[in-house]
Formats: sequence, C-alpha cells, structure tokens
Amino acid sequence: MGRIDLHSHTTASDGSLTPEELVRLAKQQGVVTLAVTDHDTISGLPQAIAEGERAGVEIIPGIEISCLYGTTELHILGYFINPDDPHLAPALITYQASREERNPRIVERLRELGCELTYAEIKEAAGSATVGRPHIAQALVRRGYVNNVSEAFDRYLADGAPAYIPRLLPSPGEAIGLIRKIGGIPVLAHPVYTSRLQEPFEQVCATLKGLGLLGIEAIYSSHSRQQTDRYRSISKNQGLLVTGGSDFHGETKPNLLVGTGYGNLSVPSDLLEPMRALAAGRR
Ligand SMILES: [Zn+2]
Ligand SMILES: [Zn+2]
Repeated sequence: MGRIDLHSHTTASDGSLTPEELVRLAKQQGVVTLAVTDHDTISGLPQAIAEGERAGVEIIPGIEISCLYGTTELHILGYFINPDDPHLAPALITYQASREERNPRIVERLRELGCELTYAEIKEAAGSATVGRPHIAQALVRRGYVNNVSEAFDRYLADGAPAYIPRLLPSPGEAIGLIRKIGGIPVLAHPVYTSRLQEPFEQVCATLKGLGLLGIEAIYSSHSRQQTDRYRSISKNQGLLVTGGSDFHGETKPNLLVGTGYGNLSVPSDLLEPMRALAAGRR
C-alpha cells in the first residue's frame, strides 16, 4: 500500500511548488492520497485535483485556518471540505485581508530595527503567491541580515521576537465552526507547537473538542516518537481522530519532503477510513 500525507502547502499560500508540481512530487514519493491544506485559501485545489486525476493521486480537499487561542496562534486543518460552499469565500476574504495588512507592518518594524527591506521587493519575489512571513524571512537572507530562514524567524519574526506583529485572527470556535459548516473535519494541526500555551494539552484538547474539534494531527514531521505516542493516546482518551502529515512547504522548509517528512515520517493509511466515514456522515 502506498503512503498518505494529510498536510501540504503550495504556492497558493507559502509553499514553493505549484499545486501541479506538488502532486507530481507526491506521486514520485509514492504518495497515493494527499491532502492539500493551504493557509486560509482553497485557490490551489482545482489545479491539485486536476493533476491528481492525471497522475493517479487522490487529493483530499483541505485547508489550514489560523486562529487565536488566548494570545497564541493555533492552526486548524479542515479535511473533505466543500470548496464551493457559499459560507467559505466571505470568511477567507476576511482572513486574507488580516494577513496582507500585517506584512507591511512587519517590514516597517524591520526597517526600524535597521534591516533595509521594502515591501515591494518581497511582493515581487513572492510572485503570485500570498506573501507570508517565510517570504520576509527569505528577503532577510538575500539581504545578508541573517544566514538562513530559521535564523530570520528566531531573531526577528517568530511569536515574541522583535518584529512579530500579531494578526487579527478568528477564534478557535469560529475556525472550527467554519470548517464544520462547509462539510469538513476540523483537526488540530502540529500539536507540538501548542507547548507555548500555559494550559496542559489535555485541557486545550477538551476545550477545542467542546467547540467541535474532531481530530488531532498526532503524527507530524517534527514530532518525536514519544510525542507521537503521547498525542495518539490523548486523542484516543478524548475520542478524537488521529491524523498525520508532513506540512511540506518546498524550499521554505528545507529538507522536509512530502510523504516522508524529515525522512522517517510514516502516516498509516488506515487512518483514512474513520475520516471518510465521518466526512460522509457530515454530508
Ligand atoms: Zn500550521
Ligand atoms: Zn501547514
């Protein structure tokens, strides 16, 4: 049986491969089922689905919505969404506006910190993609202010760093509610990043479950074996689905490959059946 990967990005958000290139790479990697989950947009889905049909890769229509839990950003994945649902487009326009409004302010802050960058050069380098912090990070690398993207995040762009500007984001209830309204399965992405929260993870899960969350991405590229086991057992205890994915971004996350993550990612394909059953029941 082939591999599955339930978390990936394209140039529709902050990935470096077009949807077609992503699907072809997934095929080469032996991925038979791929969820395309761009940040706050579904604009890459039609091309991904068409290429999936040509290449023989099943594409699960997905999305990854950022929200704010207290003051911390969390990401909620949505699977088997209906991209044509009329509730979706107006919500996404609002989310993208908040993303676009933030980027020039980050660049302004960086200039105050002595980094001579312009928003125009970042937009140009991003091409048709939605500008995100990785593009700003790459500009800092090009200008020689940092050695690589991860140093750009550590020194300037990460939550709590000097050029961090919070976004106006939906609440977890709004993000989860939207995904459910458009027929999707809401899943907490990369739970390891919730370690910044003051609350125990079990408590966060219980709260999100109360808001309609249905699963946890227990299997993730940067999770250790122990972390995976822990998130799996918490999912089980709370009656939540387990999902898994690489969070492939292409060049913006070097050394991380679709399907295999940093080399030893393996998402069992038997996770799909309960997801399909739940999605079918929600239609
Ligand atoms: Zn994410
Ligand atoms: Zn992601």
